[in-house]
Formats: sequence, C-alpha cells, structure tokens
Amino acid sequence: MKIFTIIGARPQFIKASVVSMAIAKHAELEEIILHTGQHFDANMSDIFFEQLVIPPPNYHLGIHGGSHGEMTGRMMIEIERAMLKEKPDLILVYGDTNSTLAGALVAVKLHIPVAHIESGLRSYNMRMPEEVNRIVTDQVSDILFCPTQTAVDNLYREGFLNKPVKVINVGDVMQDSALYFARVATPPKDFTSYRGFVLATLHRAENTDDLDRLSAIITALNTVHTTVVPVIMPLHPRTRSFIEKVGIKLEVHFIEPVGYLEMIWLLQRAGLVLTDSGGLQKEAFFFNKACVTVRDQTEWVELVDLGVNLLVSANKESIVDAVTTHLNRLVNDSAQVYGGGLAASRIAQHLSNA
Ligand code: UDP
Repeated sequence: MKIFTIIGARPQFIKASVVSMAIAKHAELEEIILHTGQHFDANMSDIFFEQLVIPPPNYHLGIHGGSHGEMTGRMMIEIERAMLKEKPDLILVYGDTNSTLAGALVAVKLHIPVAHIESGLRSYNMRMPEEVNRIVTDQVSDILFCPTQTAVDNLYREGFLNKPVKVINVGDVMQDSALYFARVATPPKDFTSYRGFVLATLHRAENTDDLDRLSAIITALNTVHTTVVPVIMPLHPRTRSFIEKVGIKLEVHFIEPVGYLEMIWLLQRAGLVLTDSGGLQKEAFFFNKACVTVRDQTEWVELVDLGVNLLVSANKESIVDAVTTHLNRLVNDSAQVYGGGLAASRIAQHLSNA
C-alpha cells in the first residue's frame, strides 16, 4: 500500500516521526512524504527532521505565509499535482493545520481515502482556525484515528457511528514521541540550568493577535520571572514578531525555539508548564508536571478533569495565582488516558490491514 503523508508544521513533524518509524517496520507499506513548508525556519522545521530521523520529504512545497485562504489554496494546487503523479492508495494527515485541511480536501475530491491522526478533538470554538480545520478534515476522512475516548465520544455525538468510516481510539502519538525521545534528551545550547523554573510557550492566534490578552499574559510572565521563579520561554516566531510590533517589554529568559530533544530536557526539569500549545499540555503530564493553560477552552479535557491542567483566563492575577499554587507539584500519569505509547504501532497495523 502506498501511503502519502502530508505534514507542514512543528507538531506534525514530532507526531510523524514515530508513525513513520512504525510504518517502516511494515514491508507492505510504502510512505511518500510531502512537506508543505508551512513552518520553514531551520529551528521550526529542519531540526526536527534531523533530530527525529524523519525520512527527508519526497516533496517540499515551500508554501508559507499569506492569509489562511491563500495559503490553503496554494497548498491544494501543489498537493493535487503531487497526488495525481503518485497515485497513492491512502493519504495520511495530522492534527488541525492548514496543511491538514489542504491535503484532506484534495484527497477526497480525487477519491483517495483519507486517514486522520488526532481525529475527534474539539474545542467547540469555531473562531479558532484549528477547530475549522479539524472538523472539516474529520468530515472527509475514512479512517479517524482518535487519541482518546473523549475524541471518539465527540465523533459519535456528531453522528459518525452511523457513517461508513472507521473510528478507532489508538492513543496519542505524542505520548509515543515523548517516551521514545526522552532517553536522548539534550540541554539547549549554552543554557544555564535552573531547577524549578516555569517552562512557557505562547503562539495561539487568540493570544498573540489580541493586544489586551498578549499584554496581560506577558505582564504575568514578567511578574513570575521577577518575583517567583525564572521563566524560560522558547519564543515562537509569530509571538516574537507581535511582541516586537506592539513594543511590549519581555523580562523573562526567552530563547530561540528549540529542537524537540531540548524541549524534552526542559520539560524533565521544569517545575511547571505554562502554555497555550495543544501538545505541551499533554507533554507536561507525560513528564509529571502541572500545566497552566492560558485559553478559554481546551481539546484535552481529560487533564482538566484530572485537575492537573488549569485553564486560566488571560489575566495577570489569575495566571500568577495558578502558577504559584501549582509550582513543583508532582502529577501522576497512572490513568494512562493517552494509551501509554502504543499509538504509532497501532496506526501502522491498522493501515496494513486497511
Ligand atoms: N516544541 C519544540 N520546541 C519549542 C517549542 C515547542 O520542540 O521551542 C514542541 C513541543 O514540545 C510540542 C510541540 O512542539 O511537542 C508543540 O507544538 P506547538 O506548540 O507549536 O503546536 P500545538 O501543539 O499547539 O499545535
């Protein structure tokens, strides 16, 4: 079976690394990789291919920037060309980016089956571009690989039980990646190690593009850094450009985005994670840390229910209070809600049987 994988953004490289490894163990599966170019900086793209030993992409479209419509449209044109040439038996898409949406839409129009990894997640906030991408992708998918039972339940509530598609809870591939690469974690270059620091990331449009929210979050981070514990912040390029554009003073210890092995090293040593990232909320949990999530809702509701992921509004007092309350708390992953690291091999097995 010829599988045509579409990836383009940082979290997709991390997820695809373990799935590509699992696919490679099946002689009957052939994988073609297309990188849309959505993330393109060396430290947002190349480093992941190098560190995580992802096979070099067969196609690299180099498409990034522009509006959502423009980016998605340009990707669709090029993806269609590549798919017509390769004639794959199935396309594999990940998560909720414009690359995911573009790949899924092209495939369904060409009558090529779509398998969606990280299917069924919902924030129920249609103002998030990710929510639109994941809902549309799920609608046109034939195999919906869900990371959790919650995701399966979400799809069943939307009527997927009665559709001629496969909905399978395989577990979360991000747990596979975290467990696999934890053994080879490395410190960031020239990094002075602190213990008990807050590891912070911020990049969701709802926070970066809203000046009030962005200012409140940065003020809270500055306060934590200057009065509680150091805040280490690998700074996403879009966040950096917004902060520079509006002239907010960032007083935390910010660094360039790091590779995944460095990120795991930081996660292993942090006292708490503060983020608006999807992936990092779970990684905090995988490395036994509490997480403060600066969002109004999350797709990873299990962690909120377990009381280890605290959703806080973009408000200085709420953020500082949540950080000081949960700092250095040891969180236990005994429930294994994310499958325990077997997702990639299950996915490859299902593809092999498809
Ligand atoms: N990550 C990384 N380096 C960084 C920041 C994040 O390797 O400097 C990893 C992080 O550990 C997680 C993934 O990138 O595995 C999350 O990606 P991101 O937050 O960009 O996207 P989201 O998960 O919100 O879709």
